[in-house]
Amino acid sequence: MDKPARENGQETEARPAHFIEEAIEEDLRTGRFGGRVATRFPPEPNGYLHIGHAKAICLDFGMAQKYGGTCNLRFDDTNPGAEDVEYVESIKEDIRWLGFDWGDREYYASDYFDQLYEWAEQLIRDGHAYVDSLSEDEIREYRGNYYRKGRESPYRNRSVAENLDLFRRMRAGEFPDGAHVLRAKMDLESQNMNLRDPVMVRIRHATHHRTGDRWCVYPTYDWAHGQCDSIEGITHSLCTLEFENHRPLYDWFLDRLGVHHPRQIEFARLNLTYTVLSKRRLAELVQEGVVSGWDDPRMPTLAGLRRRGVPPEAIRAFCDRIGVAKNDSIVDVGLLEHAIREHLNATAPRVMAVLRPLRVVIENYPEGQVEEMDAPFHPEDPSWGSRKVPFSRVLYIERDDFREDPPPKWHRLAPGREVRLRYACLMRCTGVTHDPATGEVVEVRCQWDEASRGGHSPDGRRVKGTLHWVSAAHAVEAEVRLYDRLFNRADPTDVPEGASWLDSLNPESLTVLTGCRVEPSLAGAAPGSRWQFERLGYFCVDTKDSAPGRPVFNRTVTLKDTWARIERAMTAAAPEG
Ligand code: ATP
Ligand code: MG
Repeated sequence: MDKPARENGQETEARPAHFIEEAIEEDLRTGRFGGRVATRFPPEPNGYLHIGHAKAICLDFGMAQKYGGTCNLRFDDTNPGAEDVEYVESIKEDIRWLGFDWGDREYYASDYFDQLYEWAEQLIRDGHAYVDSLSEDEIREYRGNYYRKGRESPYRNRSVAENLDLFRRMRAGEFPDGAHVLRAKMDLESQNMNLRDPVMVRIRHATHHRTGDRWCVYPTYDWAHGQCDSIEGITHSLCTLEFENHRPLYDWFLDRLGVHHPRQIEFARLNLTYTVLSKRRLAELVQEGVVSGWDDPRMPTLAGLRRRGVPPEAIRAFCDRIGVAKNDSIVDVGLLEHAIREHLNATAPRVMAVLRPLRVVIENYPEGQVEEMDAPFHPEDPSWGSRKVPFSRVLYIERDDFREDPPPKWHRLAPGREVRLRYACLMRCTGVTHDPATGEVVEVRCQWDEASRGGHSPDGRRVKGTLHWVSAAHAVEAEVRLYDRLFNRADPTDVPEGASWLDSLNPESLTVLTGCRVEPSLAGAAPGSRWQFERLGYFCVDTKDSAPGRPVFNRTVTLKDTWARIERAMTAAAPEG
């Protein structure tokens, strides 16, 4: 069955230019880079991409697109211990899925190790770098802190010849890890700690996922990053705020080397409520088995969001809406959920599924008879088309939709009451069967009004409740996983003293329901396809655990923001002041 494809126009909304666009436009006007715009997205392949990275990706690729430029994908693979090809592959997959293309511009910092080595020698020859033989702890001690100036290492004034000799022997593998480092001779009294003779190269006898055992010295991020941008001819190097204090250091290197000098512009990281976005913490969730993997649908990773059923268009719209700013802030995760609902509302066909089935027998419907009810995929828009839903004597409705002893204003099914079955008929409850042992309701008996076939009221009589349903003999059995926020504290890391951030986990972030019943049209639903289960929420077919004829559905989001209701209730209940 074809799922109607829908576009939504929300991404083209006009908005005022932000400060990065203003900066680029200024450079285009003044011809600073010959009218060129070249950006890059520089992930370190030491984990999966998350929604925060999506913000950077949308910006890096988005600026290139907007100004007719290019955006490189460059892996910052300077740290052999933590990095892995698994991460390289996942990062590529996630960027493509998000809708961006780097063409043949796939680069690696490790491609430039030779050039970086040459430049390091050049800085040594020019008296701008030296081999230090203090230990890591001693270097930290000598460097001082905000209140205490740095002190010179006793090795700071080695001769160029000695520095060159030691540096070459570092590269040749003559020394163990930590024996020496190469440092830039900057300014030990600078208020900016990054300028207090930063380490450029360290010894690490480790196998690199691309260069193997060719190197035993590796550049630090500080030494690699600006030069990599320069080599690639990047014009606008967009990065997060924590690099603002590194900019003078990048400038220092580029100026001393006399090479192409990109313009670096910093923007605020994305932080989201009820979410952690630190790779270290996300890795801990995976390692501790709190989640099933990097692609667990509760993870804020792109792999997790994808598996949960979040459309890439919703993530792009979200990133566009939050914009870019110079100041750190925390975005309400409800805004992301809103963008997801908005896109799914415009694109997901409506179907019926019963999560906690209760058997209904229509006593006045002939046994063995089946008829097909015409059910549109969208209640208001006929262009979405429709499917046939089989109707027969024995149905399932949602257990929650029946109360033997209903509260006031109950519009759903109860003894003696009449409800509408969506697209099928009106029916009235005539009796209830209990389990003799437990007293539990096991079956509801009803009579339908044949004249209401299709679900219309034959005489204009008012029926307030409309229920979803499936035919017992025709429905497909499914597992449904109800996902909720992974944390129940807005800032999961803001915990009382002595507690762990893991104490902020929401124990109800996953509820697995088996024995659910979905309408037969979903038997062949494609893995990854997204649907609205009427009255229940948006769901997608799990790409990993579904089997033919045995689908597993993940709940992407509920139809309404239930958390906002809870939060409003809690605020209302809180004492004044
Ligand atoms: P680490 O803490 O290991 O440095 P990272 O999250 O910075 O992790 P990178 O792989 O270095 O991960 O990130 C690649 C790019 O994505 C960087 O340019 C970084 O600034 C950007 N980025 C990372 N996290 C966010 C975020 N939360 N919001 C916006 N951009 C981000
Ligand atoms: Mg980083």
